[in-house]
Amino acid sequence: MGRSSKDKRDVYYRLAKEEGWRARSAFKLLQINNDFDIFKGVKKVVDLCAAPGSWSQVLSRKLYDQEKKSDTKIVAVDLQAMAPIPGVIQLQGDITKKSTADEIVSYFEGEHADLVVCDGAPDVTGLHDIDEYIQAQLLLAALNITTHILKPSGSFVAKIFRGKDVTLLYSQLKIFFPMVTIFKPRSSRNSSIEAFVVCENYSPPTDYVPNMSNPLLDHHYNVDFNNLEGSNRICVPFMACGDLSGFDSDKTYPLELGTGQGYTYCQPTQSPINPPYKEACYLKRNDLLSKPSNTQKGGQSEDSTCKE
Ligand code: SAM
Repeated sequence: MGRSSKDKRDVYYRLAKEEGWRARSAFKLLQINNDFDIFKGVKKVVDLCAAPGSWSQVLSRKLYDQEKKSDTKIVAVDLQAMAPIPGVIQLQGDITKKSTADEIVSYFEGEHADLVVCDGAPDVTGLHDIDEYIQAQLLLAALNITTHILKPSGSFVAKIFRGKDVTLLYSQLKIFFPMVTIFKPRSSRNSSIEAFVVCENYSPPTDYVPNMSNPLLDHHYNVDFNNLEGSNRICVPFMACGDLSGFDSDKTYPLELGTGQGYTYCQPTQSPINPPYKEACYLKRNDLLSKPSNTQKGGQSEDSTCKE
């Protein structure tokens, strides 16, 4: 295959090289800005999952004036290191960590960003359901850190996979942003389920308290759910239903349930077809289970599996 064949097959790949972008994804952010004007009035911006840096390059070229050393602050975060870009402060870190949020805010001297963008993608496994799920989790992590670092009325732009559970993500985003739009830039391949959410006018619920503790990831998770209040805690109504004079499922009853009713044993309606304990029952019934050998410490048998 010739050196130029990819240039023929992928015009954005070719143009990215010609225009000096580190990746073809630069065009996606440029096209999002063309339609939504997301850079208007922006002085503080965060690029989450930024490496190798083409989105940071776009932010630098559009928002940072190298000659005048403008007061625009651009912070780029990624797990991986990336080569320097004029006017971009780099932070090698994980967007799921509260310490990363704190560091970003300290670069802004305690203030919050006007715009947060995220083109994050996990390493794909090739298993579509898993890839979609992990991408959704990364988007939620990006939304979560955004609630720590974005100012009210600010904007959030992020990559999303339009998979089968995407409406759940839309409703989660709508809790924080009244305007959520899905945008598919021309430079994003039609064959890909990738698109971008453009979320405008950040307006969290008034009593929302940003919190990055994650019970699934953090083994020292220490949020007391029972002490959360307002929109931070969802209470679902609990209703005990049924006739209180009915049988109590925790109680032991005599075999004769009512006087004079008697008792007849009935077989279970359908026994399990091939239960995993079937072999063990057979071995036990026929005295074939291996016995602990006296020669071993603690009475442990060398062969802990069943006899053939
Ligand atoms: N927007 C970038 C550009 O234009 O050059 C491309 C981003 S690349 C598609 C996705 C990036 O997400 C990778 O560099 C990866 O390291 C980063 N990433 C994935 N999970 C992350 C996490 N938890 N924290 C920070 N970065 C993450």
